[in-house]
Amino acid sequence: MGSTNNKNPMRLPDDFIKLIEQKIGSAAAFLASLRQPPATSIRLNPSKKTSAFDAHEQVPWHPSGRYLEERPVFTLDPLFHAGTYYVQEASSMLLYQALLQTVDLNRNLKVLDLCAAPGGKSTLLAGALSQGSFLLANEVIRKRIEPLQHNLTKWGSQNVLISNHDPEDFLPLKGFFDVVCVDAPCSGEGLFRKDPQAVDEWSLEHVDHCSARQKRILMGARDLVTEGGVLIYSTCTFNEEENDNNIQWLCQQGGFEAVELTVVPAWGLTKTAFGYQCYPHLVKGEGFFLSVMRRTSAVAKTKTKLKPTESAVPLAKKDRELIEPWIAEHERFSFFQKPNNEIVAVPNELKENYALVSGALKRRSSGLVIGSLKQRNFIPSHALALSEIIDPDLPGVSLEKEQALHYLRKDDIEISHPGKGWHLVRFEGFNLGWVKLLGNRYNNYLPNEWRIRMDIDKP
Ligand code: SAM
Repeated sequence: MGSTNNKNPMRLPDDFIKLIEQKIGSAAAFLASLRQPPATSIRLNPSKKTSAFDAHEQVPWHPSGRYLEERPVFTLDPLFHAGTYYVQEASSMLLYQALLQTVDLNRNLKVLDLCAAPGGKSTLLAGALSQGSFLLANEVIRKRIEPLQHNLTKWGSQNVLISNHDPEDFLPLKGFFDVVCVDAPCSGEGLFRKDPQAVDEWSLEHVDHCSARQKRILMGARDLVTEGGVLIYSTCTFNEEENDNNIQWLCQQGGFEAVELTVVPAWGLTKTAFGYQCYPHLVKGEGFFLSVMRRTSAVAKTKTKLKPTESAVPLAKKDRELIEPWIAEHERFSFFQKPNNEIVAVPNELKENYALVSGALKRRSSGLVIGSLKQRNFIPSHALALSEIIDPDLPGVSLEKEQALHYLRKDDIEISHPGKGWHLVRFEGFNLGWVKLLGNRYNNYLPNEWRIRMDIDKP
């Protein structure tokens, strides 16, 4: 382990510094950048457009990326809870250029985010894809599904399924996807400035271990891409073993060629043999590597049976009438009822994709749960409140910032509103959740697990 001094600010391992020097010559500017605080950036949600960040500097490679001058307490911003933005490190937003330059984003695409939690890349993908596209966000580690689900629910897209599988389980979906993203688990060298634990965990053996795991993931991912489609590989690390060497290895197996992107010199990216590297002393962002490979050979598709979503059954016509007033453009959706009476909304054009994925993977969501039916009463879900498919004209209660935070904390607040029944709680026009007004009192329907737990009066 290296010592702490001005040249080596974070006790970085000597072996790591040697590797960096081999790559970029002198490490002085690189190490100096690690003494600077990391930039804070957010990515705006195109389906929940706020003007709150109009004055902020744009991330040059993503039209919805914004730098913030300092890191606020995001928990104290109701716009954060409404899903109007996702807090994402700027270099990671390069994924947008990879998509923009290698696939036709106006087409309806089938996209798999194979290593998805907590959802940074998935929300970027959801924001960039057309409405008729299909996104499958997969995460192998079970306990990481909940944060992924939370972030995607907040984002509010209508065309996303979540699954919980090992990359090897996807074989029934051979050749199914136009885009497969592998944002691989890695040694995290690019996060040393933000995450001191990554420094403690780093060793040459750990790099070897990560590289071998990445090869296994890539082997699972490669056959899922259709001919002409792309595999986008990224890590937040610098060493070649986990980056270029893995891409070279994949290309040597045949069937893929690396794709060059057009990058603006002022962005500060460094071209490598097969991809692009962000160094923190050259880019306003953290360490990151990205490479795009196009599938050049045909893939023999596995015949997967169409299977209806879960054991859900199409919603009876008389019950559909109860749902329609809650959904904008409801004629674009099919509704299914699960055995527990939850109602799932599936865009008509994606029914077949959902059925194929349901037939291929055991552990996956069934679609956007918009609520449940109890004795012919529709109980709307929190996900519906945050979803882009909700009817924007439903009645609501608008709260000022402080009241909105108290609502999100489930504190008792006064809501004086003449209405009765289900009302959306809104802040600056964006939905935060539901209340049910009952004359002189109300019930707060924010799920407990979504509640703010910090003391909001003394930040
Ligand atoms: N894409 C995410 C985002 O932008 O928010 C970050 C993904 S993180 C770099 C890598 C993910 O891969 C982690 O969620 C981790 O649980 C998952 N992972 C770990 N081992 C894996 C494996 N063997 N196969 C697939 N994914 C794995």
